[in-house]
Amino acid sequence: MSKSAKASLIDGKAIALSVRATIKEQVTKLIDQHGITPGLAVVLVGEDPASRVYVRNKEIATKKAGMTGFAHKLPENTSEADLLKLIEQLNTDPAVHGILVQLPLPKHINSTTIIEAITPAKDVDGLHPINAGYLMAGQKGHVPCTPKGSIVLAKSVAPDLTGMEAVIVGRSVLVGKPVAQLLLNENCTVTIAHSRTKNLADVVRRADLLIAAVGRPEMVRGDWIKKGAIVIDVGINRIADPQNEGKHRLVGDVAFAEALQVASAITPVPGGVGPMTIAMLLSNTYDAARALVK
Ligand code: NDP
Repeated sequence: MSKSAKASLIDGKAIALSVRATIKEQVTKLIDQHGITPGLAVVLVGEDPASRVYVRNKEIATKKAGMTGFAHKLPENTSEADLLKLIEQLNTDPAVHGILVQLPLPKHINSTTIIEAITPAKDVDGLHPINAGYLMAGQKGHVPCTPKGSIVLAKSVAPDLTGMEAVIVGRSVLVGKPVAQLLLNENCTVTIAHSRTKNLADVVRRADLLIAAVGRPEMVRGDWIKKGAIVIDVGINRIADPQNEGKHRLVGDVAFAEALQVASAITPVPGGVGPMTIAMLLSNTYDAARALVK
């Protein structure tokens, strides 16, 4: 590839919009043919500004898909016992098919306890250990939204990932580990790198498909990337904008301008993986409601 060659952009926004349009059609059919309107309960505890934005976006997307949204906005000092009571109510509410508890929770609440209290069939975030186990065992269950969306984006440019060397940087329960499992299911040869990985740049250079999920602005440099690789940048990092004093901008975990010269395709930040996360949340909620049809 010549110096001026540019990778193609994987337009997460456009792909997410098309997925959402399909879900809307499916929802309409589910309502018309079976009288089931998918319902998503979103629970927010506290005032974290980023979480409020995420929850608002999820509420809007739910409505646009023709689903019913149930918003539960609780004060910061809500006790773990009260939150567990609400989860129990939502577990048994027939109008609620999906439950999402926005993370992070305030420090006095144990998020593992809360996630484990959600009925696995309604755990549309795919974080309950039962769903994690299904994924590991290759059985049907809810798959976490960001990993699921990352695979859709990779397959939009390479429909068959079989045999690819996939390198994931990051081993979180939310992103790195489930994405690794999904790539194994796609017959990739998978390497998971993390903060203790030696010679990280050399490990990344092996990747035909690179998934960066680290949370460190532009850590992955252009010369770490194999020519022609597909790059899925999950990272969302807010950094000061040198061109606009006092303002911030979002960047990924990959040095985008550098990677653009070497990769064959890359997701931008913003407008890449982010929009897919919400689309996959709607997809999981639809699946949870559809599962009720005999
Ligand atoms: P975590 O902080 O839970 O995990 C980060 C991972 O990166 C860890 O496994 C850590 O390794 C690894 N890591 C940290 N520093 C280094 C380093 N210097 N070299 C190699 N590996 C390193 O983050 P998440 O997985 O939750 O999120 C990752 C990024 O994705 C964040 O920017 C987050 O904002 C973004 N995100 C985006 C979403 C979206 O919708 N687009 C949704 C979810 C997350 P170790 O385990 O050894 O500590």
